[in-house]
Amino acid sequence: MCGIVGYIGNLQAASVLLNGLKRLEYRGYDSAGISLLEYGKFENLKKVGKVSVLESMFDEHEFNSTLGIAHTRWATHGEPNDVNAHPHQDNSGKISLVHNGIIENYSSLKAQLMKSGYNFLSETDSEVLAVFIGSLYEKFGDFEKAVRLALMEVRGTFGITVLCSDDPDCLIAARRGSPLIFGVGDGEYIVASDASAIIQYTRSVVYLNDNEMAVIRRNGYTTKTIQNEEIIKQVNQIEFELESIEKGGFEHFMLKEIFEQAKTVKDSMRGRLLPDEGKVRLGGLLPVMEQLRNAKRIIITACGTSWHSALVGEYIIESLAQIPVEVEYASEFRYRNPVILPNDLVIAISQSGETADTLAAIREASQKGATVIGIVNVVGSTIARETQAGIYLHAGPEIGVASTKAFTSQIVVLSLIGIMLGRMRNLSATDGKSLVRELMSLPEKIDRMLENTSSILQIAESYKKNKNFLYLGRGYNFPAALEGALKLKEISYIHAEGYPAAEMKHGPIALIDENMPVVFIATKDEIYEKVISNIEEVSARRGKIIAIATEGDESIKKWAKHVIYIPETIPMFIPILAAIPMQLLAYHIAVKLGRDVDKPRNLAKSVTVE
Ligand code: GLU
Repeated sequence: MCGIVGYIGNLQAASVLLNGLKRLEYRGYDSAGISLLEYGKFENLKKVGKVSVLESMFDEHEFNSTLGIAHTRWATHGEPNDVNAHPHQDNSGKISLVHNGIIENYSSLKAQLMKSGYNFLSETDSEVLAVFIGSLYEKFGDFEKAVRLALMEVRGTFGITVLCSDDPDCLIAARRGSPLIFGVGDGEYIVASDASAIIQYTRSVVYLNDNEMAVIRRNGYTTKTIQNEEIIKQVNQIEFELESIEKGGFEHFMLKEIFEQAKTVKDSMRGRLLPDEGKVRLGGLLPVMEQLRNAKRIIITACGTSWHSALVGEYIIESLAQIPVEVEYASEFRYRNPVILPNDLVIAISQSGETADTLAAIREASQKGATVIGIVNVVGSTIARETQAGIYLHAGPEIGVASTKAFTSQIVVLSLIGIMLGRMRNLSATDGKSLVRELMSLPEKIDRMLENTSSILQIAESYKKNKNFLYLGRGYNFPAALEGALKLKEISYIHAEGYPAAEMKHGPIALIDENMPVVFIATKDEIYEKVISNIEEVSARRGKIIAIATEGDESIKKWAKHVIYIPETIPMFIPILAAIPMQLLAYHIAVKLGRDVDKPRNLAKSVTVE
């Protein structure tokens, strides 16, 4: 949530910062702003709206500064407007700061500062931090010390980048709870919320941990804790390629990412399958093999789309390994004193690896003695670093705010865990082999499915004006229905609900009339007949049925007004295939309604505030 960029070097900072903001805009886009330090004073440009609005302000200005900071905001405190946009300055105008996170004690700090005569222009918590740093700078005349002392006082979360106009060769970056890394170039450094803003300039990056800061000058940098202990940080290499964060000819990132799924599903199992033994090999879990063998219960914690994949994972792991699994919203887990027993295994799922709620949940679980493993996409992210072991999705950067390819890869990885745990217990080699074979067949099935998607376009056209949708499924297809509904809500702003198909009778059926499109995931499996009964019930009330059905199932046309066929697979992998036409349906409806598909309103990728 929110994108931060900072640059110090020899290039024109404005263009590096604008490039970076464009790359990070998927993290938040309520407003954007830049501070450039030029001839000993700040030039501040900031504006409500997307980065393109800020960029157009540069048409009238020419800046030569080689030091600056920038921000694209996802508002938490104060509405999105020009004044609340970052960067924020202190009262003297000597300090300029961008901030991601929430300063929880901002109102008491603000009251204290106001009592001492300081003024505030905005409603943000971030400005309080800028003014606080300014007040300490006034007192001690030492920029670095002022930042450190302020950060020791504040509660809550921050990723910040700060400049001081008295020191035109210094940029300070610090974090607690919000992601922040910096790229190490040749006489230049780029601080950013994630690697996508850096890769164009350098592949070498340093990941800051909580309560760490970097004091960066053109001729080098020092890293230390906020308590002032020097630390040596490793320089890591960014693994992905620049093309993977560009649209590659697609109209939107989301569409590109939907169409990448044959590859990303394959990549998430690549090198991990042992078809001859019916086993999987997950190198990232080696440090916790003993705990996996002894696990008596699994808790999967996640948010949003990852929570839906967790539900699919629950069904898969229980079925294959016969270990009880509970799925928890990460945001609830932490605040209800959860019971952690010896031999509990906690699995955290987060595409970005930075989701604040999930991070808080794993810290809670670790503190209570659980073995915690992560399933994340972003290499080197905080959850990847803070868990005892883990599995990367290898799905490549996901830029579209509505998650697509991460969802299908998460289910693949959860299936791998299910097979591994199952084979450690009672799952036979024969069953293991057929599961592995089935997984291997999925990429080709996805490719085939994506060859012809014209029927989905027609369905989108027919229902784009509807105000409500229901998504129904049973068994493994219930969480898939939840995810289908979430996709539609997120990007089209149409109200949609997912339900277990049979549960519909206990309430939602009251909503059904001729204006209600109902997406049924009605694939051929052991509960197919039961789902057909539910379809009959909706049909009898004149609901408009859109069925996602198994290739070759002609009889479903008796009830369904529209049928989207998906290739046959075993029930536990159907959510992987069924997700894709639902993603496309949501996408096409949203495009037809003129929505900003990659940047839907109020949302942001990577939710780094609680
Ligand atoms: N809490 C700050 C604000 O509302 C920072 C939000 C962000 O992370 O973008 O301005």
